[in-house]
Amino acid sequence: MSSDVIVIGGGIAGLATAHELIRSGASVTILERSRCGLEASWAGAGILSPLLPWDYPQSVARLAQLSNSLFPEFIEALTTETGIDPEYQASGMLVLPELLPESSGDAKGLRQDARNQMAEDWCGRNAFPMTRVRSREIARALARDQEAFWLPGVCQVRNPRLLQALIRAVNLAGGKIVEHTAVAGLRVERGRTQSISTSQGDEYSADHYIVAAGPWSRQLLGEHALKLDIWPVRGQILLFKAQPGLLDTILLQEWDYFYLIPRHDGHILAGSTLEEAGFDKSPTTEARQILLAKAHALVPALTEETVSGHWAGLRPGSPANIPVIDRHPSISNLYLNSGHYRYGVTMAPGSARLLSNIILDKPQPVDVTPYQWPR
Ligand SMILES: Cc1cc2nc3c(=O)[nH]c(=O)nc-3n(C[C@H](O)[C@H](O)[C@H](O)COP(=O)(O)OP(=O)(O)OC[C@H]3O[C@@H](n4cnc5c(N)ncnc54)[C@H](O)[C@@H]3O)c2cc1C
Repeated sequence: MSSDVIVIGGGIAGLATAHELIRSGASVTILERSRCGLEASWAGAGILSPLLPWDYPQSVARLAQLSNSLFPEFIEALTTETGIDPEYQASGMLVLPELLPESSGDAKGLRQDARNQMAEDWCGRNAFPMTRVRSREIARALARDQEAFWLPGVCQVRNPRLLQALIRAVNLAGGKIVEHTAVAGLRVERGRTQSISTSQGDEYSADHYIVAAGPWSRQLLGEHALKLDIWPVRGQILLFKAQPGLLDTILLQEWDYFYLIPRHDGHILAGSTLEEAGFDKSPTTEARQILLAKAHALVPALTEETVSGHWAGLRPGSPANIPVIDRHPSISNLYLNSGHYRYGVTMAPGSARLLSNIILDKPQPVDVTPYQWPR
């Protein structure tokens, strides 16, 4: 069995890359261990921005900005090709700084002022719209009125729908998706991947091989991973069903990164945890209680009675949240698109474009050195 490109892993990274390559004329096969789009890419919250972009290296912000510029066309293409609406919307994000008691004024207050100034400077430099507001001007359901930052340009998407659209678009465009097929190993000779074997004992070969296996990427590559550092970081989300319109915008607490994300139909996602639990993706009672307490403290209408779901997913953790989007240093037809950690949906179209440009030898829109394969 052979094709131009084999993509290993049918999460957002693999599907978006396949979609991009097919649109450039490549013939692509995706091999997925279970079913496409059911791991972190399904579990994620769908905010299309680093939570506080000024807290990250510029390489994270740059990739997010590239993706943001590509998202409208990406969604338009998917919706037209498939008829599925991924509910892409600029719902904006309201950032709530920590409320300091009067007595803590001085040192802590000064630190907060400095952070606020840093955030404003960063937004100014990066043409990222931001204004200072009173929080209840934007979200009336909040328990407290306070000073806040309003970022009206932040968008969101509904992950499961985006994934459904991508799967259908890849299929309709002639991409081949082979599910329930785990890649077990790579056969590398003379500096090239010759073929890969699957758990069923089949062999597949292609001109190019892309690993997009999320937190499993390092294990899968084995000795070929070199100094690649990608590991699983569990994240849990609690889902509420509220009256549509209770909340129209994303809320983010600055000090603990706790967020609420409203969907059109009244669902509100509360998240998320950051836990090192290996490959265990079971939701826990403790996390449920913490997320419920935080959600209720922020928006009192969110109570136990309104909880309607709870799940966990495994992010592909990476140092400083910088993904690897690159060709292998010594295996000329092996590539990686992984390690997007907290922002794999945000960075999907940009990462797909960069990797596709590497494979097709096209010029890059941004400096790709930060995303190199560590050696
Ligand atoms: C709770 C939570 C909230 C999040 N919120 C956001 C957010 O708001 N915004 C944002 O941008 N990002 C968010 N993320 C992060 C984002 O979801 C991830 O960065 C992204 O989904 C990673 O996508 P991926 O395709 O690399 O990995 P995955 O979705 O894990 O896909 C990898 C795929 O590879 C397959 N695979 C693994 N091994 C093999 C093998 N040997 N053979 C074949 N297939 C294999 C797996 O089955 C899986 O389908 C969140 C994540 C979580 C968990």
